[in-house]
Amino acid sequence: MISVAEALQIVRQETKTLGNERVELKDVLGRVLAEDIVADSDLPPFDRAQMDGYAVRAEDVKDAPARLRIVGESAAGRGWHEQLEEGQAVRIMTGAPVPAGADSVQQVELTHELKDGTVVELLESVELGRSIVKRGAEITAGEVVLTAGTTINAAMMAVLAAFGYAAVRVAARPRVAVLATGTELVPVNQKPGQDQIRDSNNYSISAYAQLAGAVVEQLPLTGDETSLLKSQIAGASERCDMVITSGGVSMGVYDVTKSALKELGAEIFFERVSLRPGKPTVFARLPNGALFFGLPGNPVSVAVTFNLFARTALLAMQSAADPVLKKETAALAKSVKGTTDRDAYLPAQLTTNDDGQLIAFPLKWGGSSDFVAFAATAALVIVPAGSGTIEAASLVNVLRLN
Ligand code: AMP
Ligand code: MG
Repeated sequence: MISVAEALQIVRQETKTLGNERVELKDVLGRVLAEDIVADSDLPPFDRAQMDGYAVRAEDVKDAPARLRIVGESAAGRGWHEQLEEGQAVRIMTGAPVPAGADSVQQVELTHELKDGTVVELLESVELGRSIVKRGAEITAGEVVLTAGTTINAAMMAVLAAFGYAAVRVAARPRVAVLATGTELVPVNQKPGQDQIRDSNNYSISAYAQLAGAVVEQLPLTGDETSLLKSQIAGASERCDMVITSGGVSMGVYDVTKSALKELGAEIFFERVSLRPGKPTVFARLPNGALFFGLPGNPVSVAVTFNLFARTALLAMQSAADPVLKKETAALAKSVKGTTDRDAYLPAQLTTNDDGQLIAFPLKWGGSSDFVAFAATAALVIVPAGSGTIEAASLVNVLRLN
């Protein structure tokens, strides 16, 4: 049996990165950048007014109130491109270029116009540079603003658009086939008969895989039939970069996933991890190169082992900067009990107290089959093997799920 850290190292070592492709900007949300994003212009591209008001020379209004002659107007998209001289003001709008010669903008609330708009009175002096963002103050042309390996979020879409990335080079999406074993399973649109349950793993695995950037294909339920399982896995591995199964990896008579793998000639990297839930997790490579994860059947084991291992492989395939879930530190809201032999990953909710400390509330749950309790889970509390009881208020490592 290997540790979670060793298993993760094997996953990273055996995962090859996929290629990349250029994708239209509107379709890149959630994709992993395969190129550095470089500013093609200064930001702002010109000295920009931050307020509606008057562009002036601070010197001219230091003894306010002061009257200045209005010589023009600078609006966003239509600036005033002459030289502002002593005693002059230019009416200016937010986002408009500040004319040469002006060094400050006084906000409109502190002014009023006189004589049919030819003169403005500034009621207060204005500090030098007031309400102007200087050209290049935010970004200078040529600066790297986003780095390869970053997963594109909504805020980054603005960055890509502002610097003219009409198409973006992103990692190819891994193609994943998902397959549930188990004679007891019926599809979601059927009412379970005697001794049957609905398949839920295919849906959670598909969803988690999509969150990790994959394109997912769900295969028909295979029961616990080795030959059917073999042909489904072999067929899927021709079309996909990864096959993920659930169930059939324990020690029971009908746990046929590993025999199917062996008969297919797969290279098995590990088949037991010191982890609870999720000990019988299998990681292998199929003969044609596709990666294989055999996750245990219990829905909570599926969620834990997917997020630890399969998610890591999917993100590593896309050269994501942080393929492994980040460990954070939280204080326990109540005591938890570990196991002596394996690291435990316990479902919890997260909150922050008034001092800014992250707090983990371990959830009451009925074990690895309790997927309803797990639906309220935001994070996993890591309880190292042999820790016994960890008291409330102790600091623990947690993994935040998405
Ligand atoms: P197994 O790992 O095949 O022994 O399955 C462990 C438990 O998980 C059993 O109670 C199964 O009925 C349940 N299980 C297996 N596959 C699924 C699935 N696709 N959806 C829901 N529950 C499942
Ligand atoms: Mg089973």
